Amino acid sequence: MNHIFYSEEELAFRDEVRAFCERELAPYEDEIQKTNPFRRDLLQKIAQAGYMSVHHPPEVGIGKHCGKGLVYETIVAEEISAVIAGLDMARMASATLFGKPVARFGTPEQIEKYLKPVLRGEKIGAIGITEPNVGSDTARMETHAEISKDGKGFVLNGKKYYITNGSQADFLCVFAITDNTVNPRKGMTAFIVEKTMPGFTTVKDIDLMGMAGSRVSELAFKDVFISNDQLLGGINNGFGILMDELDSERVAIAGECLGYARPALESAITYSKERIQFKRPIKDFEGINFKIADMATDFEAARLLTLKAARAYDNGERITKEAAMAKIFASEMAIRVCDQALQILGGRGYEKEHKIERYYRDARLMTMGGGTVEILRYLTQREIYKKFDGKYW
Ligand SMILES: Cc1cc2nc3c(=O)[nH]c(=O)nc-3n(C[C@H](O)[C@H](O)[C@H](O)COP(=O)(O)OP(=O)(O)OC[C@H]3O[C@@H](n4cnc5c(N)ncnc54)[C@H](O)[C@@H]3O)c2cc1C
Repeated sequence: MNHIFYSEEELAFRDEVRAFCERELAPYEDEIQKTNPFRRDLLQKIAQAGYMSVHHPPEVGIGKHCGKGLVYETIVAEEISAVIAGLDMARMASATLFGKPVARFGTPEQIEKYLKPVLRGEKIGAIGITEPNVGSDTARMETHAEISKDGKGFVLNGKKYYITNGSQADFLCVFAITDNTVNPRKGMTAFIVEKTMPGFTTVKDIDLMGMAGSRVSELAFKDVFISNDQLLGGINNGFGILMDELDSERVAIAGECLGYARPALESAITYSKERIQFKRPIKDFEGINFKIADMATDFEAARLLTLKAARAYDNGERITKEAAMAKIFASEMAIRVCDQALQILGGRGYEKEHKIERYYRDARLMTMGGGTVEILRYLTQREIYKKFDGKYW
């Protein structure tokens, strides 16, 4: 029945990405879980296959899937996350979180210099919004930049926290306050920072509960000189750039959540058919098979919300509410499904060998990253009340 929701081309693309993941990524899954390396080479393979470019136009991306849009991006996100979640987090931070603002607001020179090498997998990108003292309330960020004395650029000072790819990135899109006399929404600017710039340092990589193979870092900027040609989208336009990026990011994260839940659901179904207790497979007990029914329903509902938001975005619609709904539901669904899968496997679910604990740890991030579910509920109700004229449908 998938053909009702996905086109033949999209399903063929899913099969292609799935085969790629099995062939090129799955052999490294265990090693990455055990030793937590940052595998630039695997990110390069993903880029060379064109899976960093699906959400970018053909002029900037590489491969035959360029310009396919957000539905395709959710397919990539789901398939890679199902195998190595941390790797997709790194891919998405590079290609989408860094890549989208540069693609949409960058000059042709910036696109050439910063975006294309990232989409080819030669360079790594990151986005710097969050700070030690500033999480959900992004507008109150403390990182600031002043026009340099010679007027040729800006001097950046501050700290960023929880930056995916932070210590590994060659280029970062960093947000800073450039006018503190106005509302921060009107006084924020986006800059492209290169890792070799004097004054830019990695303070540390942060030890995480899950997402093996990723790096999430604390960064510091001390009198970093940024030339005018590294200004992204013009001075004091940063808040709009930030908001523009977040809607599509949230839908792509919902796609990742499908990827954490699916293998957990599959493992639970398989195990419940094989495990014999009281002389019968445990799937014969309603305590187990009703759980499977609920998990599958939850999973399919999350897919539909994700697909709805992605299709609307690809049609050029504003999707603040739909993106928030998709990410709330998919991120909470992934936690529920992993938790129930763990229960169905009994003690085996708690063993590392059966991987459920890993899916659970990976899934647990996404009610926070990219906007917490509390903030997303705030956005959802705000959009509902804004548009409500007596009828919801
Ligand atoms: C692994 C990881 C990777 C990340 N990657 C990046 C990245 O690449 N770049 C980047 O810039 N950031 C990144 N982040 C940061 C992420 O976006 C933030 O963690 C998130 O926005 C929340 O900020 P916070 O953690 O500081 O929580 P806080 O904002 O301090 O919130 C703490 C709690 O209070 C709640 N809360 C806050 N305000 C309200 C309110 N008004 N109403 C109700 N509840 C509220 C929150 O929902 C949350 O439950 C990453 C985070 C993690 C953990």
